[in-house]
Amino acid sequence: MLKRLSLAAAVALCLSTPALAEPLKVVASFSILGDMVREVGGDAVAVTTLVGPDGDAHVYQPSPTDAKAVAEADVVILNGLGFEPWGDKLLKASGTKAAVAKAAQGVKPRQMEAEEEHEHGGKVTDPHAWQDLGNGKLYVANIAKALAAARPAEAAAIQARAAAYATRLAELDAWVRSELGAIPKAGRKVITNHDAFGYFGAAYGVAFLAPVGVSTEAEPTPKDIAKLVRQMKAEKVKAVFIENMSDPRLVEQLAKDSGGVVGGTLYADALSAADGPAATYEAMFRHNVTALKAALSVK
Ligand code: ZN
Repeated sequence: MLKRLSLAAAVALCLSTPALAEPLKVVASFSILGDMVREVGGDAVAVTTLVGPDGDAHVYQPSPTDAKAVAEADVVILNGLGFEPWGDKLLKASGTKAAVAKAAQGVKPRQMEAEEEHEHGGKVTDPHAWQDLGNGKLYVANIAKALAAARPAEAAAIQARAAAYATRLAELDAWVRSELGAIPKAGRKVITNHDAFGYFGAAYGVAFLAPVGVSTEAEPTPKDIAKLVRQMKAEKVKAVFIENMSDPRLVEQLAKDSGGVVGGTLYADALSAADGPAATYEAMFRHNVTALKAALSVK
């Protein structure tokens, strides 16, 4: 009798333990989303990231390996807002049956200057919404919704992880505001070589001037650089930053010509490698804000 009961108990345990299920196969389009999906999904997910650390999603070309990962995925998470111009084609070509979610769904979109040679000027939607931690919380909610819908048995655990993560992001947001708030507003002006910080600037009161437009594809002309040096001097811009996916020579030239400070690397559209200073979304904010504050505090 005792033996039979324990067998029944063992069977019941097996049937009720969702951890025994295969992890959900999730494809994230770029490294920042990949990190968020891991945070929200925990053990429930196995994440494949298409555009990896230090990669540039704007000019990415998906490989056959990517198409295979998308074809086999249960869930595909994209940023949206035009960040992955290759996304729709890849989804279609892969023939995937995966649920597709856009992490930036519901973000209040900003406009940015279009890159002239491709868009012939004018305004386009700025895709870099994750650079505002308020939007980051929205990303987390959208990711949690997509994962929970695909794996209802683990919905409660997924939502609990998402809530804890969102709380950490809210604390990080408060820290960013207090760090940058300590710098006089008029001194919060920097140059970066890719126009990725519109949402960051609007959220945290920093003016970002960029020599190139929406895409890292464009090479600025000597005339663009001369114009920017004049602008830096006129507006008393204190620091020039390099982004992790871009050619640093331009920024070094700018700093030399204008007498500004080279403030180091800002992580914009991609995380660093795992042993680098911006291996997670949270570490990226801590690194960027620390670097900004140091450069803007130089007298
Ligand atoms: Zn970008």
